[in-house]
Amino acid sequence: MIKCDKCQARAIIYQKYSGMHLCPTHFEADLLRKVRESLRETKIFAKGARVAVALSGGKDSATALYCLKKIFARRRDVEILALMIDEGIEGYRPHTLEWGRKIADRLEVPLVVKSFREEFGITTDQVAVSRRAQAPCSFCGVMRKTLLNRTAREMGADALATGHNLDDEAQTVLLNYLRGDVERLFRLRPGRVLPGMVPRIKPLRKVPEKESATFALTHDLFPRDCGSCPYVDEAMRLEVKTMLNDFERSHPGTKYSLLRGLDRVLEMRPPSGFEPLRCSRCGDPCGSDLCQSCRMLEAHAGAKALSANEK
Ligand SMILES: [Zn+2]
Ligand SMILES: [Zn+2]
Repeated sequence: MIKCDKCQARAIIYQKYSGMHLCPTHFEADLLRKVRESLRETKIFAKGARVAVALSGGKDSATALYCLKKIFARRRDVEILALMIDEGIEGYRPHTLEWGRKIADRLEVPLVVKSFREEFGITTDQVAVSRRAQAPCSFCGVMRKTLLNRTAREMGADALATGHNLDDEAQTVLLNYLRGDVERLFRLRPGRVLPGMVPRIKPLRKVPEKESATFALTHDLFPRDCGSCPYVDEAMRLEVKTMLNDFERSHPGTKYSLLRGLDRVLEMRPPSGFEPLRCSRCGDPCGSDLCQSCRMLEAHAGAKALSANEK
């Protein structure tokens, strides 16, 4: 039996980057410490706050919700809500929606569900079938972000929390460098404030994927029989993930180094660099006259009209 380095209990996890073996109690304490640290850096919780947690249907966002509930259990001035998006993906989304409802019930968090069908009049399945306007995964990603922000704003949320963990963040940093898209790094600033945008926070950004998974498993937050999205298209991210995991094995702490590097880069530039314009159609903040979501919807409407003409 391998013992915890902080007590004599049985260890359930080994952190190569810290050299520590931890028992369930000390593992939870360590994970919550990392979450608290990330939350403190956003400076959103100094005063009272309402936080909407975006439940994706995966283990990470459920873990994030659990941690926020636990950390703010005694703070009457902090309100935690959950938010789920139904993108209209048959055979996948219905299961995760049901699971999300169970998690929200169990953690006693009010849940709001919004659907692409009701909000945009089109589902990801329909976009996939049309094969004209966009790849379903990129359509879904953009529309999902828009709907999450819009709903969080309607809920009066001061922050929108997602389940991104250390691995996700480290992969994104590396991906942006590999694509030469360094500008995009600035969008990763935690709690970034832009008019019309609910600041996004990532409570698990210092928690390695493996630890988030272990936490979810030991706290019954791991989705079962939910499968994964049939449209997911992240070939390059998967390559980066494999590369980073190999690197982490031979150089423990690499993922944290990438995150630290990002935070340093972010410090070099003041938070507000540009004044975003407003989308002429939906009013959301964006970089040009028409936001990406409205452009996508328009492209799809065009594709629909086109196929109608052919008949
Ligand atoms: Zn211990
Ligand atoms: Zn728009």
